Amino acid sequence: MSDEGPWTIRRVLRWTTGFFQEKGIESARLDAELLIAHALGISRIQVYTDHDRPLHPDELTAIRDRVRRRARHEPIAYILGQRGFRDLDLKVDPRVLIPRPETELLVDVALTKLTGVEAPLVVDVGTGSGAIALSIAQARPDAQVIAIDVSPDALAVARENGAANGLGNVEFLQGDLLTPLGERRAHLVASNPPYIATEACRHLMPDVRDFEPRLALDGGRDGLQVIRRLIPAAAAALRPGGALVIEIGHDQGDALRRLLDGPDWTGAHVHADLAGHDRVAEATRA
Ligand code: GLN
Repeated sequence: MSDEGPWTIRRVLRWTTGFFQEKGIESARLDAELLIAHALGISRIQVYTDHDRPLHPDELTAIRDRVRRRARHEPIAYILGQRGFRDLDLKVDPRVLIPRPETELLVDVALTKLTGVEAPLVVDVGTGSGAIALSIAQARPDAQVIAIDVSPDALAVARENGAANGLGNVEFLQGDLLTPLGERRAHLVASNPPYIATEACRHLMPDVRDFEPRLALDGGRDGLQVIRRLIPAAAAALRPGGALVIEIGHDQGDALRRLLDGPDWTGAHVHADLAGHDRVAEATRA
C-alpha cells in the first residue's frame, strides 16, 4: 500500500474501475469517473486534469459511499439522482423508472403526429419521471399536456421535473390510465406502459429488477395486460383523427398490430428502434 503513495484521484479511479469490473458492472470505467466526479463536485474532465490531487478523508468517504451502492448494482442514475432525456435534465429516484433512449423514439413519433395540429391536447399515461410529457411540452409550447400516473410518488417526481425545467403547460393528475381526463378529448395519447411479462421480470438484470419500480415494468402474465386496457381507453379519450403512440416490447409488434386492427383505428404501424426491434406502435382514431 505505502509504496503507492497517497490516494490521489488517479489511484481511486484505477481502484474503483477494477472493483466494478470484478463486480460485473458493464461500464466500469465510465461509472467510476461519474461517481468520483459526483462525489467531489467536479466535472468528468477534471477527474483527468486533477488526477494527481490527493484526496481528503471526507472526500474518500463520499466516493466510497457511492462506489458501494454501485457495486450492489444500484443504477448509476439513482446514485447521481439525474438522467438526461432529449433536451431535459430529469431528476430520478427509485419512485420512477429511469428514462431509456428507446423512449426518445416514442417522443419523436409523437411529435410527428402533432405536426400541423395547433394547440393540441396531449396526454401521457404513466408519466413516471415525466420524460414523455415534459419533452412534448418543451418541443411544443403551444400544447396543453396532461401527465397522468397511478402512483402519487411518481407524480411528485414528474411535478418537480416540470417545475425545474420551467414547463408551465403541463397538468399532473393521479389516476388509472385515462380516468383523470374526464370528458376532455385529446389529440394525442402517448404512453410507455409496463410491458414486461411477470415471469420475465425475474430474469431482468439486477440493476433493473432489484431497483426500478415493479409497477412501471410488470405488464402481467403476457406483458400486455395494461396495453389491452389502454387501447380501448385511448379510443374513448381521443378525438377522431387523434393519435395513439405506445412503447412496446420487442416481441409484441404482431400482438399490437392485431389489437389495433378494428373499427376504432386506422393506419396502425409499428416502428423499430435503433437496435432494429419493434418498439413503438402508433394508430389513428377513426
Ligand atoms: N413514461 C415514463 C418513461 O417513459 C415512465 C414509464 C413507466 O414507468 N413505465 O420513462
